[in-house]
Amino acid sequence: MSIFLGMFGKMDSITDLEKRIEVLRETDSSSYNILKGIYRFDSGHGTQVIPYSFKNKISEYFGKRDSQGNIIEPTEDTISRINNQKIIKVYNKWTGEGSLFNSLRAQRPGISSMDQEKEKKYIHQLVQESEEKCDFCHPEEYTPEDVFGRIRGNYSITAANVAKYDVWSSLVIFNQHNPLNFGLKEFSDYLDTGFAWFEAVNNHSPQFRFPFFIWNCLSRAGASQVHGHSQILMSKDPYARVETQQKAFKLYKLETGDDYFHDLCLAHDSLGLSENKKDFCFFASITPVKEKEMVVITHTKPSTDENVKKTIFKILRCFIDFLGVYSFNLSISCPPIDNEDEFPYLIKIVDRGSLLKPTGDIGGMELYGSSVVADDPYNVMNSIKEHWKQV
Ligand SMILES: [Zn+2]
Repeated sequence: MSIFLGMFGKMDSITDLEKRIEVLRETDSSSYNILKGIYRFDSGHGTQVIPYSFKNKISEYFGKRDSQGNIIEPTEDTISRINNQKIIKVYNKWTGEGSLFNSLRAQRPGISSMDQEKEKKYIHQLVQESEEKCDFCHPEEYTPEDVFGRIRGNYSITAANVAKYDVWSSLVIFNQHNPLNFGLKEFSDYLDTGFAWFEAVNNHSPQFRFPFFIWNCLSRAGASQVHGHSQILMSKDPYARVETQQKAFKLYKLETGDDYFHDLCLAHDSLGLSENKKDFCFFASITPVKEKEMVVITHTKPSTDENVKKTIFKILRCFIDFLGVYSFNLSISCPPIDNEDEFPYLIKIVDRGSLLKPTGDIGGMELYGSSVVADDPYNVMNSIKEHWKQV
């Protein structure tokens, strides 16, 4: 696998984005034009004045630490970093997606990786305690079924959603209670079961043409049940945010004559953030909806393509096993079931933060402004690259 070989070597930070783009302008005008055709970039420095009385606390909050947790950075250096915060803004002109990066935010109190072991223990307990009275452990007895019955996989089964999101809104319930406990064959089966349900709905009601697959893993991601399950929906029209992507694709074609999703992969590739395979690509997004968002774009149905399945699986396992991500959203938006060549399949995975944190990860900025993001896409891609073979 000739993967992850960027031409820029170790210029690995979103804060160097403008330098990269400048190098691109000088060395690869075609990629530069694609990048600038899709995105608008801006950056600046936020400054402030810190009172003397607050300096020690600033050092305590933001000072760089060694592995034992001792502060190793002189207070003045910490203050200087705080006083000179670089903000990178990225805006997608076609979809309206936008993110603000400030790597300093990752070092705020409470976001250290030191709590990871604590969180693992918490989840272990949560899984154990929720198992005893779990309805999803006995889906045939304690969940409704669809009018056409259930789809049964080897490691999962469908159930109608008792409180529906939409007219066709059901669940793939995993056999495993622990949602984080899955291998490739289990994950593959979850997708197969979901896509078999999409077919069944379309056979029953052909006007429902747009499949949508969502996995909200654990409570931070919106799951009401600990037991592993994903949401499966079929709609007459694409859901709002999916339609935005598809409209961008159509408009881009009309105005540039090119394939938007293909160029999206090229844009990330030119920044050293993507991996392009023969039939699909995946990348760490420069307009992530929230932390660590990874995107896979493919023209083949994920349930029928072993390589795509394996890629999504590996990204998920890297998140869980190496990046300490236990609560995440996975979404698969699809072209219409009766015209699969119309659009590619878009798979997006995003980290929803630690289960031990009492504060939400999404605030007014994310809902009504732009996403404020701490994790650097370069760190995300580099971590995935580092652990790819271990999964
Ligand atoms: Zn269960």
